[in-house]
Amino acid sequence: MGIAKVLIVDDRPENLLTLEGLLEQPGIEIIRANSGEEALAHMLDHDFALVLLDVQMPGMDGYEVAELMRGNKKTKHIPIIFVTAEVKGKAQVFKGYESGAVDYLFKPLDAHIFQSKVGVFIELFHHKEALEQKSLELDQKLAELEELQQQLEQTNEQLLLLSITDGLTGLLNKRQFNTNFTHEWKRAYRNKSPLSLIIIDIDFFKAYNDTYGHTKGDECLIKVAQAVSETVKRDVDLSARIGGEEFAIILPDTELKGAQFVAERVRSNVEKLAIQHEGSPVSDTITVSVGTASVVPTQKEDTVSLIKAADAALYKAKGEGRNVCCTASLSC
Ligand code: GH3
Ligand code: MG
Ligand code: MG
Repeated sequence: MGIAKVLIVDDRPENLLTLEGLLEQPGIEIIRANSGEEALAHMLDHDFALVLLDVQMPGMDGYEVAELMRGNKKTKHIPIIFVTAEVKGKAQVFKGYESGAVDYLFKPLDAHIFQSKVGVFIELFHHKEALEQKSLELDQKLAELEELQQQLEQTNEQLLLLSITDGLTGLLNKRQFNTNFTHEWKRAYRNKSPLSLIIIDIDFFKAYNDTYGHTKGDECLIKVAQAVSETVKRDVDLSARIGGEEFAIILPDTELKGAQFVAERVRSNVEKLAIQHEGSPVSDTITVSVGTASVVPTQKEDTVSLIKAADAALYKAKGEGRNVCCTASLSC
């Protein structure tokens, strides 16, 4: 428990001495003032548990001091006990309460009553201190909690991103491709709108790895992925890495003709990367084969049919010598 400071205010030194004698005990620090003005000055410098205030003083009397204290944010809640020799007329007592007195003590002071009254206020002061400390600790805990909450949200965001994207290329991963593809399929079925799918596969990529090593292979995958995602410009279009060196583009609301146009742009943009590939029998640089298929879904669940068709188109492109785009109808 901390020290409780008590301010005693009286214009007569002998009264101050009496008060001091009665108050002296461990845990209490006594500060003296022999005028109202001096008392107010002390209040700005200290936090008092209690003020014992003489009523009759030359200059500013006790009531005026109390009134000024009530008007000031720092001092308005400090308890006051008026110590007075005045005959206790009711009017006087009420005047004291109006100016904010908490209690009265009459001279000559009875040591027992004095000490027990003062004791109550000291105890209240310690309670208040303890509460303030607890509230401070609570504020700190709250701030810590808010920070933790923020960290958690960030971690969750990162986790979500990790769970839906491919670590190497940053494109959507296979799992998220499946989710989005099913979603788009259902939407196209409801709206009776066309849905197109493009599947892209790097040509002779095994040979590329064998020639340049796995690290260069990874770098090449990143560049191709970037070319793929930069080729699709509409917000609704989605590009994903669906296999080792295989990518897919979902094009909602897009007919075959539009999809073919995108497919050709992907093929050409990869070619423009001009990544040297000595091991390729069809080109000096990295190329891709592209399969495209499109459908207006007539069945709600048959998502696999479009994937099969785009795969078949890709197979055709490989068969036609690679670095080409092919299409396939859904019946194949
Ligand atoms: P094709 O023209 O018929 O597509 O031949 P390909 O060599 O590209 O196809 P294949 O399926 O035989 O080989 C794919 C290769 O892709 C095998 C593997 O070495 C490579 N690959 C798959 N995933 C990764 C990867 O994450 N990093 C690297 N560096 N290589 C990968
Ligand atoms: Mg492949
Ligand atoms: Mg390949």
